[in-house]
Amino acid sequence: MQMHKGDQELVRNQNRALVINLLRLHGPLSRSEVSDRTGLAPSALTRLSRDLLADGVVIETGKSDSTGGRPAVLVSLNPEYSRSIGMKVERSRVLAAAVDLTGVIREKASVLFDAPPSPAKVIDTVDKLVKKLSFERILGVGISISGFVDPATGMDLYSPILGWRNVPLRDPIFERTGLPVWIENDVNALALGERWYGAGRNFSHFICITVGEGIGAGVVIGGEIYRGAFGGAGELGHITINPDGPVCRCQERGCLEVYASDYFLGEEASRLGFTNIQGLIDAGRDGNADAKVAFARMGRYLGFGAKNLVNLLNPEAIILGGERMDASDLFLPSIEDEVRRHSFPSEADRLQIVPTELGADGFLIGSATLVTADFFRVPAAGAM
Ligand SMILES: [Zn+2]
Repeated sequence: MQMHKGDQELVRNQNRALVINLLRLHGPLSRSEVSDRTGLAPSALTRLSRDLLADGVVIETGKSDSTGGRPAVLVSLNPEYSRSIGMKVERSRVLAAAVDLTGVIREKASVLFDAPPSPAKVIDTVDKLVKKLSFERILGVGISISGFVDPATGMDLYSPILGWRNVPLRDPIFERTGLPVWIENDVNALALGERWYGAGRNFSHFICITVGEGIGAGVVIGGEIYRGAFGGAGELGHITINPDGPVCRCQERGCLEVYASDYFLGEEASRLGFTNIQGLIDAGRDGNADAKVAFARMGRYLGFGAKNLVNLLNPEAIILGGERMDASDLFLPSIEDEVRRHSFPSEADRLQIVPTELGADGFLIGSATLVTADFFRVPAAGAM
């Protein structure tokens, strides 16, 4: 039976995606290893690898040191092929990084603001940063932002730290830069970065929890980000810990954020007579008992939050990140303690609690991965 031209092209593109994904995950490999692992016939693979080499997405990277016989030529992804730009929009700055195909940051840039920026200011800044990070082939721009985000429409639905509601970002940024644009919640972007290049590489089900000014969670189920119906999944900071507790910035009472974010540490620092959170951290490390208790309480409450998620979703791992991980030595043991002590024992034993591997760069690498993931997406029939 003769294949239609469209079908042939679809198959070719699917095979292409199959090979570059294999090289992404397991490269460098010899052509026969690629053939074995993809099931592609050597003749089809010869044509395909010729195209991939000509295009520049794949390069030859030396030879295997086989014993006996001719050493095989190895092929791998070409990190220089392209860059994806990842950005993080914050209240006082926009951070940007150009990330190569293998998830490595090649260049960084940032712009600082005196006051929370308007959407127009951010769109302008994104355009400037794209120009600054220019490269021969830019695949697109991924932008992460805290709050409720709808990736499907490219809208920022609600970002309390910026005071934005229903702000279109993707389309105006595309119009300015001419590049494909992805918009995502910042913790989801971090979880995606960890899934591709960091501590989440070996997990299909995990939760990335960030601790700092706020508390967030990026939920990965079956290898995919779970966003919920309206982009609001993972608002871990606002689960209720104590219905009679202090009022949270979301106006509810006794949210986790009140007990375990920088807000809590700031309150404890001033109650105990320290100038700021750093003073509390230093005192804790010097062995000050009150400071140590404050961090232990914070860890315990974070443990409550994590445990609730563990009981609800049964993940393989909790990956901890965020700016306050700089003091994790003071609160991590209490998180572990709380999660392991009360969860179902067999589940708690198998659960891994680990820090992010990408650290502070994870947000930018993850934002860029929104773009890179599209490059590696295997085209589905009917989607072309
Ligand atoms: Zn709240």
